[in-house]
Amino acid sequence: GVFSLSAPTPLRGPLTLVAVSKEVLEDILDLDLSVLQSEDFVHYFSGGKPFPGSVPLAHRYGGHQFGYWAGQLGDGRAHLLGEYTNKDGERWELQLKGSGKTPYSRSGDGRAVLRSSVREFLCSEAMHYLGVPTSRAASLIVSDEPVWRDQFYDGNVTKERGAVVLRLAKSWFRIGSLEILARSGEVDLLRKLLDFILEKYFPTIQSNDPDKFLVFYSKVVNETAQLVARWMSVGFAHGVCNTDNFSLLSVTIDYGPFGFMESFDPSFVPNWSDDEGRYSMGRQANGGRFNLGKLAEALGPILRPEQLSMEQILKDYPQIYHKRFLEFFKAKLGLLGHDEKDEDLIAFLLKLMEDTHADFTMTFRQLSELSDHQVQARTIPPEAWAIRDLAMHELFSTWVDMYVRRLQKYVLRNWMAESAIKKAERNDFSEVHLLQRILRWPFQEQAAAEAVGYAAQPPAWARELKVSCSS
Ligand code: AMP
Ligand code: MG
Ligand code: MG
Repeated sequence: GVFSLSAPTPLRGPLTLVAVSKEVLEDILDLDLSVLQSEDFVHYFSGGKPFPGSVPLAHRYGGHQFGYWAGQLGDGRAHLLGEYTNKDGERWELQLKGSGKTPYSRSGDGRAVLRSSVREFLCSEAMHYLGVPTSRAASLIVSDEPVWRDQFYDGNVTKERGAVVLRLAKSWFRIGSLEILARSGEVDLLRKLLDFILEKYFPTIQSNDPDKFLVFYSKVVNETAQLVARWMSVGFAHGVCNTDNFSLLSVTIDYGPFGFMESFDPSFVPNWSDDEGRYSMGRQANGGRFNLGKLAEALGPILRPEQLSMEQILKDYPQIYHKRFLEFFKAKLGLLGHDEKDEDLIAFLLKLMEDTHADFTMTFRQLSELSDHQVQARTIPPEAWAIRDLAMHELFSTWVDMYVRRLQKYVLRNWMAESAIKKAERNDFSEVHLLQRILRWPFQEQAAAEAVGYAAQPPAWARELKVSCSS
């Protein structure tokens, strides 16, 4: 009821290894890179040769697509090869994508084309290095097997080449994995699958905890909010936030018509078939909330009526999302500590970016590269082109003022300590006490600190100052 036995169909024609992730091969799969010399490598990694002990499966799942229940979907072009526990004790599930028809292929051919496989391979690895929870990709292999696709829905079908990606995740279960069972009244199986999922992927949840499913739900709500906030922080739009593409482990899966936005634009829609912009950049958090609502519905049949407080848990989602969003954007701006106005500062910047179409990624990067002096003096070097775009805005200067004020923090610079010490030698301990007070609130502007010049440019003699171990 949850999986069907289904073997990959080997790609026809000569196979070419397009790319591998050496880190995945070595660090996750414990492989020596000499395996790449083997002629069999491309066959093993594209479904032509079975891995010893592997029993390939296709997973049965359903899903809500663009807001509507789409019924049974399932792995139509993917095969789960099995799981591997590596020498670090991490358990990974290996899946081939583009490996041929399964019982869930419906009218599809079970194949993936080179272009979409390149995108999945590159993006999942990129997301990993950006620190976004994601599936990984081990290899990308292309064949000469023709695959027919109507690329632009213009009636013209183009011949493309079939490709297979070997991808990995801690789990490939989706919200749709539970929905299909709840929707078709397979309640015993639903409970069994949930117990399996909790035991296997949520080891911190006690199996005898009477609220274990609520605890599970609360974790998924938390992690999903965090994941979508992370997407926002790197400018990533998934493109198809359907429940069948939302992982129960809250990692990014199923890279299709995703996109990174060039300039900040909440209405950015990477998927050209998403006419209504349901999954636009700025609506992803809503998409996540909708999906979590569907997860709650799927858990409904196995919860006791008095436990049906999932709505209560879901109510916290916007705040969790918000908190994370703030946290990630503060990190992008190098804002430490807490300031009530941080939210305004970030929203203000995003608004300037939206109005001026300043490049999203480069604005943050170039801001981080400017020296304090350049920011304070408003001297933007020509190479900071994204900030130059941003500076076209009439309110840019107002924002910079806010930012500069916020960046000011008091650290115990050597010259301050030196000045306090000189006085202390004369039995005047006032500056020691002043510093002690000021440094308790390093992120707050303090009149006493400003008065003695702690926020001003360091005095010239500070440059000459050296301290030794004995000092
Ligand atoms: P997606 O929109 O890529 O998440 O896919 C939605 C559903 O369509 C999943 O059940 C896929 O397995 C299935 N699907 C997509 N492309 C194909 C294909 N070429 N052959 C068979 N099934 C497919
Ligand atoms: Mg290691
Ligand atoms: Mg999918």
